[in-house]
Amino acid sequence: MPVDLPIYMDNLATTRVDPLVLNDMLPYFADRFGNAASRTHEFGWTAESAVEDAREQTASILNATPKEIVFTSGATESSNLAIKGVAQANQSRGSHIITQVTEHHATLDSCVALERHGFEVTVLLVDEHGLIDLDQLADTIRDDTILVTLMVANNEVGTIQPLNEIGRICADRGILFHTDAAQAIGKVPIDVDAMQIDLLSLSGHKFYGPKGVGALYVRNRPRPQVIAQMDGGGHERGLRSGTMNVPGIVGLGSACRYAQSELDSEADRVRDLRDSLEAALTTQLDGTHLNGHPDRRLDGNLNLSFEGVDGESLLMGLKDIALSSGSACTSASLEPSYVLRAMGVPKELAQSSTRFGLGRFNTAEEVEYVTGRVVEEVNRLREISPRYRSAT
Ligand SMILES: *Cc1c(COP(=O)(O)O)cnc(C)c1O
Repeated sequence: MPVDLPIYMDNLATTRVDPLVLNDMLPYFADRFGNAASRTHEFGWTAESAVEDAREQTASILNATPKEIVFTSGATESSNLAIKGVAQANQSRGSHIITQVTEHHATLDSCVALERHGFEVTVLLVDEHGLIDLDQLADTIRDDTILVTLMVANNEVGTIQPLNEIGRICADRGILFHTDAAQAIGKVPIDVDAMQIDLLSLSGHKFYGPKGVGALYVRNRPRPQVIAQMDGGGHERGLRSGTMNVPGIVGLGSACRYAQSELDSEADRVRDLRDSLEAALTTQLDGTHLNGHPDRRLDGNLNLSFEGVDGESLLMGLKDIALSSGSACTSASLEPSYVLRAMGVPKELAQSSTRFGLGRFNTAEEVEYVTGRVVEEVNRLREISPRYRSAT
């Protein structure tokens, strides 16, 4: 079967809105355009009821309750609200925060902003697979620690942190635990109770929902103190003022519903595709290195470095395939990815890193096409690289 070009295989950067999700959203741009805060007429009631349905669907994928969901513009906003909001509200209890080095910039930069206001941040290191050390986490907690913020799954290498154990350590010590689950929702089962999570950030566009909408889960019992970062009409129980993005929220709820019903079957299918791509590339090309954990990683993630090949040059030669080199977030700079460097990947190999992000809409035919093109292009670049030829 012929494939349509270009092929999209960058599903960790963003995903296509699932046509079923889009279909659920469309009426809320048109006939059902009401403001969910309008209490005096049918238009408002219709919008409000759609928002409350979406709140239930979003809660359900986390094993949370609807009143624990705060809708936001995405995971960046959710993490800013969680980290800054908790820090500001708990200042009397302490000023120490713990995070780790391969977090998303939304987390790292929120922590840096707090440091400028007198908070102290400990940044845990990771091993060569991108995992934190649990003993080190436990040893780092102090009497004045108020928050631990550690992601579920990394966006570059897909490494999945031991959430259950992290949750247990934080709960034992009575420390609030926030997690950035932007890459995990719809791919890794999350249970905020079993994992003892107090706050969780998620984003619609990472799992076939729309961009510009997300949520922050805030545990209800006991409810952490959080100071709002947006002042205004007091929407979302005072935590996030601003007129609700009703079509976006409907799309987020719908994306949660489909993700939840397909979680296991989709994970199996995406993992099979990823595994066959990995097997094909590593058998057909020498000098291929996997970045990330061999099995504790996202099913759709394959991050490879090809010796002697510059990642940017590889992507330039693959205009018919959408992939990422290093990280989409840092690709404006020519510095190798901070995530790979933190894992101890040598600079040369880090510069060669290429991220394949497989998802719901990828097919076996696409994997076959991508394999052929990548093998061809890596071989071509190696042939014209004097350094690589002299090394082999
Ligand atoms: C995409 C992403 C974010 C940011 O989410 P937005 O909704 O785009 O703001 C944060 N953390 C991780 C791990 C992500 O992958």
